[in-house]
Amino acid sequence: MTKIEIIIENCNKCQRCVKTCPFGYISFTNESLVIDENCTYCSACVGVCKNKAILITRKEKKDFSRHRGVLVFGEQREGKVADVVYELIGKGRELADKVKEDLYCVLVGNEVEDSAYELITYGVDKVYLFNDTSLAKFKEDTYTALITDLVEEIKPSIFLIGATAIGRSLAPRIAVRLKTGLTADCTELDIDAEKKLLVQTRPAFGGNVMATIICPNHRPQMATVRYKVMSKAEKKPNPEGEIIRKYVDQTIIRDRTKIMDFFKNNDGANITGAKIIVAGGKGLGRSDGFTLMKELAEALGGSVGASRAAVDEGWIPYANQVGLSGRTVRPKLYIACGISGAVQHLAGMQTSDVIVAINKDPEAPIFSVTDFGIVGDVYQVVPELIMELKKKASTENT
Ligand code: FAD
Repeated sequence: MTKIEIIIENCNKCQRCVKTCPFGYISFTNESLVIDENCTYCSACVGVCKNKAILITRKEKKDFSRHRGVLVFGEQREGKVADVVYELIGKGRELADKVKEDLYCVLVGNEVEDSAYELITYGVDKVYLFNDTSLAKFKEDTYTALITDLVEEIKPSIFLIGATAIGRSLAPRIAVRLKTGLTADCTELDIDAEKKLLVQTRPAFGGNVMATIICPNHRPQMATVRYKVMSKAEKKPNPEGEIIRKYVDQTIIRDRTKIMDFFKNNDGANITGAKIIVAGGKGLGRSDGFTLMKELAEALGGSVGASRAAVDEGWIPYANQVGLSGRTVRPKLYIACGISGAVQHLAGMQTSDVIVAINKDPEAPIFSVTDFGIVGDVYQVVPELIMELKKKASTENT
């Protein structure tokens, strides 16, 4: 058992530990330090105690030698594997190769046999397939039960899941059942090959710092990763993977939900897959500024994005929001109009191939990430751009 103790003879009652404990689990009562039984052994108190009056004794290291390989959740909808899965396969292959282990995928659905073969062509060593009519639609309870059992059986060292609506619902449920950690919304993954530790990077504190997170005491090491953050896997010329068909035990399928009907959300364009995005910010000053954004996007054959400030104003739906708390995009061309370039916005678009910004303020931070910057008023620059594009299109048509 991990233990925390106060070495009374060393304690000078400075109470630095009381102020430091991030959970408020140390108190100074009746002239002595009291540690709450919920202490997480985070060691923050040990670090600040100058007199070595706090001692944490950790339980013996667990043996993770039976945990091997990288597992990817093969999310699918209506039989079509989500694009993020191919990105996770690309990263998963890289991580597995660094420690010379296998790459697995778990695919759950109905009539998804062809998708399982498709995953093999991207270099997956084993696809664990749960194929049954009862699995056609994503249901948290069912998917959680099946995948948790599989993970306990095959014992992967790492488990990667897309940070999609489905992935974000599924991953924490599985992590809790497996009593392991989960790092959500990772933007970078690497592996410490010697210790077989997944090194997970994600923005923290509103995107102001990039946190590096490890999970040394539990397995599997679980992470969700946003779409469009990692590069997609390439198809392999001679794939050699195998499909392992899993029995779907109907008795473990608990269903607390009943799907009555299914409506696709058409609220906003699908900006995540767009090749060109014209994004508007608070600098547009009014909701009809987005009519202009739409006009420019149409002239370029692209979609409309937005900053959170513009969404908060109610000028455009949340589905169009780009950034830390919106969508991550990676188009060939991103045009930011009246967007200042806050870190939280940049987190969602700075890997775009070419970035253009139009902003009145030459000091706007957005210009630090742009390939082309136009200092000017969107209401002057954008109409001129649209006019030029239309002129070009009409000359090409004649
Ligand atoms: P502003 O910062 O107000 O910038 C407006 C810009 O327009 C200025 O640079 C100004 O010079 C320029 N301008 C004004 N008038 C004109 C004109 N006529 N022509 C040209 N330029 C003009 N933000 C996001 O975008 N996405 C997120 O996902 C997101 N998530 C967040 C998560 C957290 C936890 C937090 C704390 C914040 C988040 N934010 C996010 C908010 C973010 O910090 C900024 O507040 C937001 O991005 C600002 O939006 P903006 O650039 O449109 O507005």
